[in-house]
Amino acid sequence: MKLKCQNKKCNHKWNYKGKQKFYCNCPKCMYKVNIKKAKIKVRKNQMEVSNK
Ligand SMILES: [Zn+2]
Repeated sequence: MKLKCQNKKCNHKWNYKGKQKFYCNCPKCMYKVNIKKAKIKVRKNQMEVSNK
C-alpha cells in the first residue's frame, strides 16, 4: 500500500510492504506514522478542483 509520511517537514511517499497494521516508520525520516491515516487513497475518478 502507498503511504505518505505524516511528518509535515518530510511528506515522503513510499510503497509499504511491511507486516505492521497500525504503525510503521518512515524510511526517510524514521517518523512514526499511523498507517491508517498515512495510507493514500487512490481515487478512480478524478476530483474536480473547485476554487472558492
Ligand atoms: Zn518521513
